[in-house]
Amino acid sequence: TDFKSDKQPTWCPGCGDFGTMNGMMKALAETGNDPDNTFVVAGIGCSGKIGTYMHSYALHGVHGRALPVGTGVKLANPDLEVMVAGGDGDGYSIGVGHFIHAVRRNIDITYVVMDNRIYGLTKGQASPTSRQGFETSTSPDGTVEPPVNPQALALAAGGTFIAQSFSSDSQRHTELVKQAIEHDGFGFVNVYSPCVTFNDVDTYDYFRDAIVNLDETDHDPTNYQSARDKIMDPSTEHIGILYQNEESVPFSDREGIDANMADIPDGAPERADRLVREFY
Ligand code: SF4
Repeated sequence: TDFKSDKQPTWCPGCGDFGTMNGMMKALAETGNDPDNTFVVAGIGCSGKIGTYMHSYALHGVHGRALPVGTGVKLANPDLEVMVAGGDGDGYSIGVGHFIHAVRRNIDITYVVMDNRIYGLTKGQASPTSRQGFETSTSPDGTVEPPVNPQALALAAGGTFIAQSFSSDSQRHTELVKQAIEHDGFGFVNVYSPCVTFNDVDTYDYFRDAIVNLDETDHDPTNYQSARDKIMDPSTEHIGILYQNEESVPFSDREGIDANMADIPDGAPERADRLVREFY
């Protein structure tokens, strides 16, 4: 199945987002999905353009709000394969509150973050994952804050599938996204997706040298302690599945969910819609 649209990406030549998107398209096809049952939701940033370049249902929404939209799409039509795409700025700055709640709800969608550790679309400001001391247009003497650790946030929020991949390791990246799709619950894949235009420290060469492949270690992703040790070690760039809870129960299968849904009185959506219209 071809998930590629006929639009040519306007990403800079060499941008990591090409590899990230190709892996997402391959993973969707290899897990038996097709454009008719796939919905891609994106926020704002270079990553946000992905819905235009993919042949599927898509929504290019508001900054940092892709996850609640993706959650709503999945609740409204559980048969859809929902993939939410974002960047480090979109997902871990303005969207970080939504991230934590989507993780703890364990809604059965996939979240792929193209993490280039910089704001690319707005031309090179420090982002939540920029490393400390990184000189950018908003931090000419170097950033003073330590970076956000996305996997630690996910683990603390009760994440059930937490992975890290690298956009130029096409096979491994595709495999990780496939496993996230197949996971029963919220599949989270943070991707090292280098920005070749504005980030001259987190480059392809840097990642190639620094990356430790978890498959070549004795790490067992179902072992919480091992996952925590790996995730809390910011000195190493790991790729692979950091944590997977095999007992994961997705939101839609949680005890009590049917009763909660059934308690919504008839006509409530119409009343809400009328109130919103009256208010505005
Ligand atoms: Fe990619 Fe950076 Fe160019 Fe954006 S600015 S398209 S992240 S290389």
